[in-house]
Amino acid sequence: MRQSQLFSKTRKEAPSDEVSKNAQLLIRGGFINKEMAGVYDYLPLGLRVLNKIVAVIRQEMNAVGGQELSLSSLQSKDIWKKSDRWDDDKVDIWFKTKFQNGAETGLGFTHEEPLTNLMKDHISSFRDLPVAVYQFQTKFRNEIRAKSGIMRGREFLMKDLYTFCKDKNEQDSYYEKLKKAYVKIFDKLGIGAQTFVTFASGGLFSKYSNEFQTVTDAGEDIIYINKAKKFAVNKEVLNEEVLKDLGLKREELVEMKAVEVGNIFNLGTRFSDALALTYKDEKGESKPVWMGSYGIGPGRVMGAIVELKADEKGIVWPKEVAPFFVHLIEINPKKNPTVKNEAEKLYQEFLSAGIEVLWDDREATTGEKFADSDLIGIPVRMIISEKTIAENIVEVKKRASVESEKISRDKVLIFCQKTNL
Ligand code: ATP
Ligand code: MG
Repeated sequence: MRQSQLFSKTRKEAPSDEVSKNAQLLIRGGFINKEMAGVYDYLPLGLRVLNKIVAVIRQEMNAVGGQELSLSSLQSKDIWKKSDRWDDDKVDIWFKTKFQNGAETGLGFTHEEPLTNLMKDHISSFRDLPVAVYQFQTKFRNEIRAKSGIMRGREFLMKDLYTFCKDKNEQDSYYEKLKKAYVKIFDKLGIGAQTFVTFASGGLFSKYSNEFQTVTDAGEDIIYINKAKKFAVNKEVLNEEVLKDLGLKREELVEMKAVEVGNIFNLGTRFSDALALTYKDEKGESKPVWMGSYGIGPGRVMGAIVELKADEKGIVWPKEVAPFFVHLIEINPKKNPTVKNEAEKLYQEFLSAGIEVLWDDREATTGEKFADSDLIGIPVRMIISEKTIAENIVEVKKRASVESEKISRDKVLIFCQKTNL
């Protein structure tokens, strides 16, 4: 893409009321726009990043047999009454509104109820199980605190997958499959080293669950980490009994701040009982379906990546989620027109080779271009100038490193294909 065509502009200052690093940098870089507290728009650069995160997650959800669908945001009160999650004293984050006829509706903050209800039309026999379905869908939550930027939105994208199984055994083994898939996802997204499977409370559903917690000072949770075992315990459930059950000693654990990027739950028959989702087993006996639910917030992950990787100059995207792979920068094209020609030539080569490139073809000073490039955080910067043309090279600087290197002009594409970041 030509940067001169990108409508979003970078800016020196973030809104004064924005306290989180992720939102400050993402707003300054033109990735997102703040509508109001906890409500953000994704601009072209931000949407590219979000979609890359979504693509990584989707691949792993498909790999565990997940079938993608998309459920509505508007929710039926009757269904949520059945599971006793409609009333505000049971769930305090609902956004509710009314239809013209006065009937109440709510905007979905999760989707166990409507999906369980929907599955009654599709699950009737043991032959129909197990099933796993998932979606990337906008959730609405009237969060009390919304000061963590896109890590805690009041409207945000969630990947939620749900499993439907014959019994506890089948559900437990699906749960383990999903746990492995999650580890893979966070590795691929470049935050695997900082992300810990964490023993946590089961919330409304069961005694315990597993959270995926990414260590960062911007996190709102406190976890206790055992680095060697790559395992953590959420402060909410840390006690003698839990430590004993897990075979951990308190003195082996280190307290850290972290953000929950994912969460997996065994739901048991909590929702199938409430909504009467049953199946007939081999003997023709009616049995409740066992369920699990598994969430990831792609926007929260994006915010966590910014929090973890940014430096004093701006964002540092891992290759897998970067909006572009190469930031091509031409220096002083007005002084020497061959610079523009050479930049255009390289730009076309990148396009033909399928390498994602943002070409800074704007009329801006070199200082401005470099500052914006640091802020936007594309992994590889390539510089074309009078000097590089004379030497028949391209100057390459990785965003995450200080030094730059010279690459022979004819080796540029090979360099891109081989570079692991
Ligand atoms: P938290 O305790 O941080 O509010 P939660 O327990 O409410 O999280 P879940 O209901 O398990 O979160 O939601 C599944 C996933 O959706 C979370 O792991 C997180 O990645 C994401 N998520 C939850 N709430 C938000 C939010 N307000 N903004 C962005 N992402 C969110
Ligand atoms: Mg929450």
